[in-house]
Amino acid sequence: MAEIHEECGVFGVYSTQSADLAGLAYYGLYALQHRGQESCGIVVNDDGVFSSHRDLGTVNDVFSREVLGRFPKGTMAIGHVRYGTTGGNNRENCQPIVVNHQKGKLALAHNGNLSNAYELRSALELGGAIFHSTSDTEIIAYIITQQRLKTASIEVAVSRAMNELDGAFSLVIMSAAKMIAARDPHGFRPLCYGITPEGVHVVASESCALAAVGAKFQRDLLPGEILTFDETGVHTDRIHCGTVERRACIFEYIYFARPDSVIDGVSVHAARKNAGRLLAKRHSVDADLVVGVPDSGLDAAIGYAEESGIPFGLGFIKNKYIGRTFISPGQGQRVDQVKIKLSPIRDAVQGKRIVLIDDSIVRGTTSGQIVGLLREAGAREIHMRISSPPFRNPCYYGTDIDSRDHLIACHHTVEEIASIIGADSLGYLALEDLTEMIGSADYCHACFSGQYPTAIPICTAKDRFEGKLSQREGKQK
Ligand code: SF4
Repeated sequence: MAEIHEECGVFGVYSTQSADLAGLAYYGLYALQHRGQESCGIVVNDDGVFSSHRDLGTVNDVFSREVLGRFPKGTMAIGHVRYGTTGGNNRENCQPIVVNHQKGKLALAHNGNLSNAYELRSALELGGAIFHSTSDTEIIAYIITQQRLKTASIEVAVSRAMNELDGAFSLVIMSAAKMIAARDPHGFRPLCYGITPEGVHVVASESCALAAVGAKFQRDLLPGEILTFDETGVHTDRIHCGTVERRACIFEYIYFARPDSVIDGVSVHAARKNAGRLLAKRHSVDADLVVGVPDSGLDAAIGYAEESGIPFGLGFIKNKYIGRTFISPGQGQRVDQVKIKLSPIRDAVQGKRIVLIDDSIVRGTTSGQIVGLLREAGAREIHMRISSPPFRNPCYYGTDIDSRDHLIACHHTVEEIASIIGADSLGYLALEDLTEMIGSADYCHACFSGQYPTAIPICTAKDRFEGKLSQREGKQK
């Protein structure tokens, strides 16, 4: 139960026949809800006329049957779910955004954070640009529209804009006549493509959203690829592919993505089970039961149990009905929040030596509460195992991993952390295990290693929103 959050999920559909695409986008966004619960939106393109609805809340909150019924049929639609750390949680930062320009209009939805957003924004503002939100998305849309005024097509404008963007971006864009999907050259965030039996083309952050709308997975977009969907078919532009090293976010596999998704050919469920197996080899312990913290610790717990021979069992029930209206307590009241979300199964854990598997420890507060819940329920020993290496660095590519000040692993040894959270022992996955976990070595692990694939930002959108300006620390490799 990680204390960190993914910041977005994107979805897009293109059909040669006019159809109820808002409905399709709704189901796609529903499947991507785990990537962001603060706001969401859909824009439908009906012969060049854009209809949009965006608001704060989950897909369920924002799209009633009545709201969906107001959308016209169309040939294209894009959608977005957002977790609202960057720039705060307000309506201006809801996506997709719609921009009018001299050659037409476009709608854009974005997952990721630019690592050069501050430089781009500053330069554009000096040139007279006015931005209405603190999001990177508006910067991307501005640069694309500027390029569009100088080029013959939207896809060329996107390609030229990509020359200026650094960092993480998986984009779904819609013009009057085309839908475009683009993935940054590092491939930080996932983006895949599928087709329904009716021939509707679908792009989504994760393959679970393709399955939700009945689309057959075709393939992941290559890092740097631009896919254009129009009346003549599907076109690929790979001019940006291979220009930098591929660096897919390893934390998508550890925590962010849904376990039924497959990213770049690797099953998220299988990767998590591998993490559990590797943990069992690295940190074995005598115990009676392996318990995963729901939901993201469960797959790794199964892997740990299989490797160690210790039985896997359910130790907690998770309350699935905590919605946006839940009044979240502050830091000082975290006990209550965790207790409301998780309830230990006393009968399963009482008197037992437990291996407790979770995906990460950020501040340590939540882990301490979870260990405390098991103790209160009568667990005899609690051996915590974490299916990722210790967090020691912030993320600049679209997740809200905290500053070093708040990361417990920056200030304490493993033994000290075990003592702070009240566990009898603690073991993390090693950095070198990650390659075996997903079967490849071309991933980003900067939040664990400090080796950033891009220059570290002078200032992030979050810093800017909070009035902070950090010093560039230089590119670390
Ligand atoms: Fe993912 Fe960590 Fe890299 Fe951010 S720094 S993209 S969370 S691996």
